[in-house]
Amino acid sequence: ANEFAFTDDPFEKMSKLKVRLLANENPLGISQSAKDAIMKATEIGNRYAWAEFGPLKKLISEKEGVMPKNILMSPGSSDILLAAAEYFAKGGGTILTCRPTYDDLLEKTTKFGATIKAIPLTKDFKFDLPALKAAITPDVKLVYIVNPNNPTGTILSPAELEAFCREIAPKVPVFLDEAYIDFLSPADRPMLGKLVAEGLNIIQARTFSKIHGFAGLRLGYAMAQPDMLKALHQYIGAEGDVSITTLMGGTASYQDIAWQDHCRQENAKARDYTTKALTNLGYEVIPSYTNFILFPIRMKTTAFSNQMFANGIGIQTRDFNGQPYCRVSVGTMDEMTQFIDGFKKVVG
Ligand code: PLP
Repeated sequence: ANEFAFTDDPFEKMSKLKVRLLANENPLGISQSAKDAIMKATEIGNRYAWAEFGPLKKLISEKEGVMPKNILMSPGSSDILLAAAEYFAKGGGTILTCRPTYDDLLEKTTKFGATIKAIPLTKDFKFDLPALKAAITPDVKLVYIVNPNNPTGTILSPAELEAFCREIAPKVPVFLDEAYIDFLSPADRPMLGKLVAEGLNIIQARTFSKIHGFAGLRLGYAMAQPDMLKALHQYIGAEGDVSITTLMGGTASYQDIAWQDHCRQENAKARDYTTKALTNLGYEVIPSYTNFILFPIRMKTTAFSNQMFANGIGIQTRDFNGQPYCRVSVGTMDEMTQFIDGFKKVVG
């Protein structure tokens, strides 16, 4: 819900958009293989999904180097974030993170009684791992890291992140929100399932909402120690809350490597185009590894976003360190051309 907090009547405004670049959705839709699997699954829609979780968990466990018992499926990773917020915030304590980042889990922990200790990002807009390390005190119950980070689109080096988890997780659980990990090249992609396999107390949250295009179909999962998954499970519904159609579609999409490669490539092309166009207009774009781009603007956030919306283009804005920023999701090439045209009109 906080994604749209800047609008008065988000749904009315959204229905009028020509170009929807505000929720980091996949503009290409879902794969044909997922559509076919979903249609087929409607035939068993009268049955609760039980055994059907097995094949997907097996595929995930093989790719990530964990056991199926280290995986908990859910309808989107938001449910995992909410469960972690409630579990770790119970009875107070501190949740340690860097900001700006994705605030969903953090804001929820405050509702459940915890305090947030937020360190600024580094000068190049990354999570500041040495500063986080130095900020760990006995009251810290969880370290929350978003990698790649939203809204900055920046990443941590896999080796540094692994070293951080190895040092910190024996003392304090580390939550890794990896919603955008599928956009990374193999060299940039941390493969920290091995730490889970070694018994370390890290929690990895993943989603099918991004590269698989399942934002509306809802599918995500957590990877962690079985005891941790059991604890989190208290705060979300049964795994069976994932519909059988979504589950079967997700299982097909997970195996559709060609579709994932296609989405990754198209995203990179449209992202490069947008980055270059903004740079040519004199804007300093933060280099993005994801399906969204953050850059400072020279107008007040409300005026800018209202005018972009008035031109049919939905984006997000954010102020930090007294500087207004625009976060634009990467759409198709055609949508990004419309974004640049609209942007030029609005900024004059
Ligand atoms: N984590 C991050 C960093 C996100 O940006 C999002 C959504 O945009 C989510 C988690 C939640 O995604 P979902 O609930 O669709 O899996």
